[in-house]
Amino acid sequence: MINLILFGPPGSGKGTQAALLVERYQLVHISTGDLFRNEIGNNTPLGLQAKAYMSKGELVPDAITIGMLRNKVETHPEARGFIFDGFPRTIAQAEALNQLLEEEGTQVHALLALQVDDHEIIKRIKLRGQTSGRSDDMDEKVIQNRIDVYKNETTPVFDFYAHLGKSHRVEGIGSVPEIFDRLCHLIDAIDQRSALRIH
Ligand code: ADP
Repeated sequence: MINLILFGPPGSGKGTQAALLVERYQLVHISTGDLFRNEIGNNTPLGLQAKAYMSKGELVPDAITIGMLRNKVETHPEARGFIFDGFPRTIAQAEALNQLLEEEGTQVHALLALQVDDHEIIKRIKLRGQTSGRSDDMDEKVIQNRIDVYKNETTPVFDFYAHLGKSHRVEGIGSVPEIFDRLCHLIDAIDQRSALRIH
């Protein structure tokens, strides 16, 4: 089993790359942002709660997010591994993920952090906002808040896994296939080193 965290600021290409990685390695993709948007689309009580935070570019509280993530992981006992996209975004979430995977007899094998500068991510998010229908992609103030929240609350998660020797930086500027190649090289190296045999 291999469990990967796809990490990086909003708009860094996590969702795009996750979709490609899932196909290559036959993993289950869990995006907390997609899960929340799905709940909002279905008008569930969870969706209603999440919407209040998401529309402002704030994080949904840990208890809500962790509970939803746990439910999702538990519906996939057959998984060969997971790609976590947009989770963990706080140290509390990282600790909860470690505990959950330990209960399942597994662990986080690597965190792959896409490196994209502020100027580029603002450009990309605004472009995405023209077609995504996501209101949080259209409002400059909300975009800036998401970037600030990422820097203040989420970047410590990189260090959390770096202390465990699991964090890796990947250049996130380039074409989609180029970045995909970089990620695959890294994953294959990690696989070889730890004999995970994901192929
Ligand atoms: P992006 O990476 O472009 O910000 P996401 O779809 O990952 O897009 O997240 C959209 C919003 O969903 C976030 O701004 C936040 O409000 C909420 N969200 C997603 N994942 C989490 C999480 N792990 N913890 C708290 N809030 C989250």
